[in-house]
Formats: sequence, C-alpha cells, structure tokens
Amino acid sequence: MKIFRYMTAALCALSLAMAAKAQELRTEVFDLLDLDAPGLEQVKALHEQGDDQGAAAALLTYYRGRKDVVTPEIKDAAKVKISKEDQKLADDGMVHTFFVHKGYQPSYNYGEDIDWRYWPVQDNELRWQLHRHKWWIPMGKAYRVSGDEKYAEEWTRQYIDWIRKNPYFRLTEAQKATATQQQLDDHQNTRYAWRPLEVSTRIQDQTNMFQLFIDSPHFTPEFLTEFLLNYYKHAEFILNNYSEGGNHLLFEAQRMIYAGTFFKELKAAKTWLQSGIDVLNKQIKIQVYEDGGQFELCPNYHLASIGIFLKALAVADMNGFRDAFPKSYTDTVEKMIEFYANICFPDYENPCFSDAKLRGKSEMQKNYKQWSKVFPDNQFIKYLATEGKEGALPEYKSKGFLKTGFFVFRNSWAEDAVQMVVKAGPPAFWHNQPDNGTFELWYNGSKLFADSGSYVYEGNKEVNELRNWFRATNSHNTLTYRGENLETTDSKTLLWQPEGEVQILVTENQSYKNLKHRRSVFFVDGRYFVIVDEAIGKQEGPVSLYYQMPKGKVENSRDDMHFATEFDNGSNMKLQVFSDGKLSMKKEEGWVSTAYRKRAKRMKVSFTVRKESEEPVRYITVIVPKQEAGNNPSIKAKFIGGFNENGVKVQVKVGKEKKVLEYQLD
Ligand code: MG
Repeated sequence: MKIFRYMTAALCALSLAMAAKAQELRTEVFDLLDLDAPGLEQVKALHEQGDDQGAAAALLTYYRGRKDVVTPEIKDAAKVKISKEDQKLADDGMVHTFFVHKGYQPSYNYGEDIDWRYWPVQDNELRWQLHRHKWWIPMGKAYRVSGDEKYAEEWTRQYIDWIRKNPYFRLTEAQKATATQQQLDDHQNTRYAWRPLEVSTRIQDQTNMFQLFIDSPHFTPEFLTEFLLNYYKHAEFILNNYSEGGNHLLFEAQRMIYAGTFFKELKAAKTWLQSGIDVLNKQIKIQVYEDGGQFELCPNYHLASIGIFLKALAVADMNGFRDAFPKSYTDTVEKMIEFYANICFPDYENPCFSDAKLRGKSEMQKNYKQWSKVFPDNQFIKYLATEGKEGALPEYKSKGFLKTGFFVFRNSWAEDAVQMVVKAGPPAFWHNQPDNGTFELWYNGSKLFADSGSYVYEGNKEVNELRNWFRATNSHNTLTYRGENLETTDSKTLLWQPEGEVQILVTENQSYKNLKHRRSVFFVDGRYFVIVDEAIGKQEGPVSLYYQMPKGKVENSRDDMHFATEFDNGSNMKLQVFSDGKLSMKKEEGWVSTAYRKRAKRMKVSFTVRKESEEPVRYITVIVPKQEAGNNPSIKAKFIGGFNENGVKVQVKVGKEKKVLEYQLD
C-alpha cells in the first residue's frame, strides 16, 4: 500500500513536471503588470530582487486570493454546477473530440497530437469556431464539480498546445513569393485562429476558465505567466484590430470590458476598459435606429446585440462603473427589447428573416425574465416574462418600425391572432438578405408563411451554393425579375396606416435598375390580406411573384391560380393570385431552415407575367387565413382603372363579401 501511494505521488510529480516542461516562465509579464497595484507588493519586491520564479508564485497566490472582481457567469467558482451537455463536452474534449458547432454533430476528433488546422468540412464556421474552445469552460466546470485533476492537467496542456501551434503570423504579398510551406500555412491559419471575433470570445471565456482552474496545482506559476502573456496579446490585438462594424464590433468591445475589468493589474487594462466602453457608447447610436431596430436587419443579431449591451452593463454594475453608460444607452436597449417583442409571434418565436435561426419560447422567457429585472417598470417586458400573469400588453396592435423597415399587422396579441410581419428596410450588411417586401404570416397557433431561413454561412463552393439558395430573393415571398436577386435593397415607406378596418402598408424598392417594385398590403377587418404588387419601369421580360408554401399538404390549381393548405391543426389558408396580365404558375422544390444545417422540404411557387412594354405588370394576391381545411371561400379580385403612380384601387370579393380597397398618396 505504501509503495502504491509512493508511486502515485511520484507519477503525479512526474506528470506535473512534464506539463510544466511545456510551460515556461514568461518574465515579460512583469513589465506588463502595474507592480504598484494594491496587493502586488510582494510580487514587486521579489521581482526587484531578481527572483521572478518567486514573484510568479506570489502573483499566483494573489490571484487565488483575489475576491473583488466578478464576471456575470461565475459568481463563485466553488459553487458551479454542470449540465449533462457540458459534462459531455468536457469528456469529449479530454480525448480531443472538440465541440465546435451544433451544425456539425457528432463532433470531430482532432487527433492525439491536436491538429488545430483539421478542417473536415470546408465551412468557415467550422474552422473559425474551433478557436472559440467551447469545451474548455465545461472542462473547468467538470474540474470544479469532480475535483478530478485530470481536467485541469489536460486544459493547461491544450492551452499551451494552442499557443504553440497557432502563432499570429502574417505575410505580405511580396513575402508570399519566397515563403516556406510552413509559413504559408501559418499565414492561412491566422485568418481563422486570429479572426477578431474569435479572439474576443477567448478574451471573455478565459476570464471564466481562469476562475475555474486557478486553484489547481496544474495552474503553476509558469502557467500563470504564459496565460497572462497570451491574454495580453489577445486584448492588445483587439485594441488594434477591431472589426469595422456590425455585431462583431459590439461583441469585441463588450469583451474588452471583460479584459479591462478582470485583469485590472495589467497596465493596459484601463485602456482596454475605456476602449470597450467608448466603442459601445458610440456604436449603440450608429447600429440601433431610433425605432429600436439593429441595423443588420436580422432578428438573431438584434437579439445578440441586446445581450451584448446588457452584458456590458452587468459587468459595469458588478464592478462599480455603471456611470460609464448614460441613460440614453439603457433607453435604447429597452426600445430594442420592445422592437423584438413586437416582431415575434404569440409563441415567442421570431421571424427567420435574413440569417436568423429560430429562437424558442423557453430561451426567450429566460431572456424576458432577465430583462424584466433590468427594466422593472416596463409592463410589456413583465407581461412576456410572466406569460401574462403580471404586466400588460401595449394598447396598440399593429406597429410599424419605419426606419428599420419592419411592419407588424396583428388583430390581437393572443395565440389565435392573425399576424403578418413584413420586412422592407434600408440597405444593410452581410447577414441581411435581398428580400425586400417579404413577410411571415402567423394564424391561430402556427406559421403559415415562414421565411426560408439561412441554413449555412460561407465556405467552399458547395457550402456557398447552399447559402445562396436560402438567401436568394426567389426563396422569399416577394417579386423578382427573371427570378434574379434584387440589385438594390433600399425600401421606401410610402404609406403606413396601422389602425382602422383596413390597415395599409405601401412600400417601394428600386429592385433592379429599370424595375421598381411597389408592394401595397391591405389588412382587411383583421381577417385577411390583399397584397398588390406592381412592377414599374421600362424593363421588359418575365416578372415573377414568389411564395414559399408551408410544408405539408397544399392543394392547388392552375385554373384559378390558387393554393390552399389542408392541415388539421386549425391553422389553414387559401392564397389566390390575380393579374391583369397573362399569368403562368410554376412549382419547385423549396426549403425551410430554422437552425444551422437543419432544413425541411416544402414547395416554392412562382406566378409569372411577361412584361412586354413599359406598362407596369400588376398582381393582386389574396391570402385568407382560416381554421378548417377544405370548404374554401371563393375569391375574386380585380384592378379598378389602369396603373396610377399615386394610388391603387382594387375590388376584392371573399365569399359573398365585396370590398373596394384603395389609397391615394399625397
Ligand atoms: Mg430569408
């Protein structure tokens, strides 16, 4: 028994020595630290005596005892819990099966000697996100919960391995000509390992790993110096390489606030913190329109931006610098929440416009609960946080966000509502899709028209082709010329009338050089929609109106150009298209995606009129939501009078009810 114990101790010492072998004492760290900071007296004294080994040990003791800096994720490392999913991520991580992306499951194995450049599917996300190390915090939790040193030992080993194999290395075009293959590989790898968004993710997450692992004997003084030096390089990198704009810049700034707060003993920390605060205060005014919409026009990134702004605020609150953010900042975040609450459906789910994925009810309820703590007086947020037990809904029903170009028609806020959300906004960015005029429609408990979603981002040709299908204009519910993507996405709102028996939206986009699309949506009696599409301009050729049918049984007929769903869930519709031109109809394969690399088949349909002259092509689409399948109302619709630049007049008959719908622009 004694021998066994001795052997275990010897093995442990040996393994510690081996792990330490890969680690070096990075004495540069002492130049980066503010050795006059309170608590570092001993570190300073030892360093000045030339005992950097001792100084590093003193620094580690200081950090192990430090209690005055907190992150929102880990308030007390001794009390962390671990979910089943995280335990699996941790255990897989131990054997180098790294969880990189939900869209690529099961996770790939990166080899015994980790190959950080392994790229089994050439989707950029799979390569980028490897460098977010999503299994490391789970390993930290597993370590805390089990007390098993194997997690800490493996983490320090992987951490050092990553540093050694992923140097920041760039070549100029001239240098590439004479570079070795290794240098070319390092150059290419830098694009992935050192993309600012990934660097910023590590800046944030490593503050949490630091707390989880710091008490381990494997977290040696040498390792501490390696860690701090690496961390310093990361934060300095962001300081000098912030992304140009968009959600990436917001994420990076918010994470610099982590860096500046958490490693306040580093001389550069104040600069990092101030830079993060300044960028967020500036960007919130640039990236959020006055109506509360985030300028990328993508519900997911809108939601992420709310999270970023509030996380910065939470860190500020916990660490005593709330004053860094003015009242206008919190007011804007509150508006952003109301914007999001408005564009979502009664089941809390979002429209999947642009690159959005579906965010479910349980996730959103958690969000609203958290937001309600930040905005306790907001009755709308409280209502959503409590599923209507407390708080109140707004007094309005339909609501337009004119600057962002999101318009919501609804007859109620309840589950059985009719609700249409139209997207017709200004030019936006990479995550935006060329879909001006498109919509999602909800009725009585489910979506009847869901956006196709996004499916994947970018990578090699195969990945990009998949992306292009989902982002294509003709994979939306709008008008195209020859089925081609819109050349311009800059909608102007000509009329928004959100009240009364007939509510109206008129929006116009110069979709192509010689073809303007004007879409007029009438919401009639809170029951059905009449959509008038006019293709205006000298362009000749096929003009097509596209609709993505809900998945499931949909009967249809070319005789009268109608489609009707036959579902047994109480949520059905009949759609019928009319034109004063000669209509043809085509059915194609369609898809709907609600998560990365997840898709389901459905039907895409198009109605085409050949534009033969400068005369506009005009369509009327009537969509009648209804509970039962079958027993469809007869629908008739026609234009009254010829094309008029200043207005629209149509006659629509649904069942026995005849209506004239019209508006006149000033
Ligand atoms: Mg889309």
